Amino acid sequence: MTRIAIVGAGLSGLAAARDLRATGADLVLFEKSRAVGGRLATRRVRDDGPAHGLTFDHGAPGIDDADGAFGRLVAGLADAGHVVRWPGAPQSARWTGQAAMNAALGPLAKGLDIRFQHRALSIVRNDERNSARWRVALEAPDGDSTADADAIIVTAPAPQTAALVRSAAPDIARLAETATMAATWTVMMVLDAAIEGDAFRLIEDHSSPIELMILEHLKPGRAAAPARIVAHARQQWTNAHLEADKYEIADKLGPIICGLLDARNVRPIHAAAHRWRYARAEAPVGFPFLSSACGTLMAAGDWLFGPNASCAFDSGSAAARAMAGRLLSDGVTPR
Ligand SMILES: Cc1cc2nc3c(=O)[nH]c(=O)nc-3n(C[C@H](O)[C@H](O)[C@H](O)COP(=O)(O)OP(=O)(O)OC[C@H]3O[C@@H](n4cnc5c(N)ncnc54)[C@H](O)[C@@H]3O)c2cc1C
Repeated sequence: MTRIAIVGAGLSGLAAARDLRATGADLVLFEKSRAVGGRLATRRVRDDGPAHGLTFDHGAPGIDDADGAFGRLVAGLADAGHVVRWPGAPQSARWTGQAAMNAALGPLAKGLDIRFQHRALSIVRNDERNSARWRVALEAPDGDSTADADAIIVTAPAPQTAALVRSAAPDIARLAETATMAATWTVMMVLDAAIEGDAFRLIEDHSSPIELMILEHLKPGRAAAPARIVAHARQQWTNAHLEADKYEIADKLGPIICGLLDARNVRPIHAAAHRWRYARAEAPVGFPFLSSACGTLMAAGDWLFGPNASCAFDSGSAAARAMAGRLLSDGVTPR
């Protein structure tokens, strides 16, 4: 039985799994976090304060409007009520998850064998005779382990992929290192006053540390109260404060964000910050995916193609189709 491992259960990993599932291969996904979605992320407030249970889409606020297979996927998700159109958002965020961004990917993950809280530490060639070609070292809450696979697709952001495959596929690592990814600090706040108007607000004053504010309670499909904001810091500001403490960032940016609102005396009743070290693909590699010489270790993700969700999907899908073709030409018969 051919065993294919996918590292990462973000959009590109789930797209790859969707296409490989059709081949009947034995698939397993290793995901370091507790949920699917990757940067299509939603945070639920867990503390016992006044914001308890509220959610913020603190990664991508929406997904882009695209043609082709991704467009068809989104149309299907919309018909089934998992995503909704977001009037007033730009083309790059024309759709958003119904009620929460990460909920959009639930249908793609259904029925897959996903091992959550399993972080891939390294991938090496397996020299044991009569066994699978690759070995993945994994870190999980119940201890470290290894998993063998005939083929692997790695879908972590470029610098993390480079580190993972450096010894097994140095050519992939070298190309992954040419991709640059921009960092973004995001701040999530619950406010003590009602705020009306547009949900998507670009800040045109380039001297402001804030580039974008999304009023969560005004997005389609969200509870209309209390007022909630996710603000994205400008890239230059993020870079200058990259290693700062998250509490310090929330304290610094909170009053600035309130000052940008067209309401007086607004105060946050909850504020938290999250650093996306690898938020957006700034200079993508330009190939749909990368492959080792033997064709059974591949890398996919938005950083291959471009900065949006559709790029992640297209890359994962392209890698899966190439992988399926490679395995069949090797005479490896799926289950
Ligand atoms: C702040 C922000 C704003 C954005 N705005 C938009 C937007 O408006 N429109 C748009 O279309 N896109 C937007 N994006 C980009 C979009 O989110 C990404 O292009 C897309 O989600 C990337 O998907 P991916 O699967 O390639 O990577 P990811 O979503 O990063 O998925 C990779 C997965 O791999 C896992 N992983 C990493 N390393 C390991 C490891 N060693 N072992 C196991 N698992 C691992 C991660 O936990 C993650 O789940 C935004 C992103 C951010 C952060």
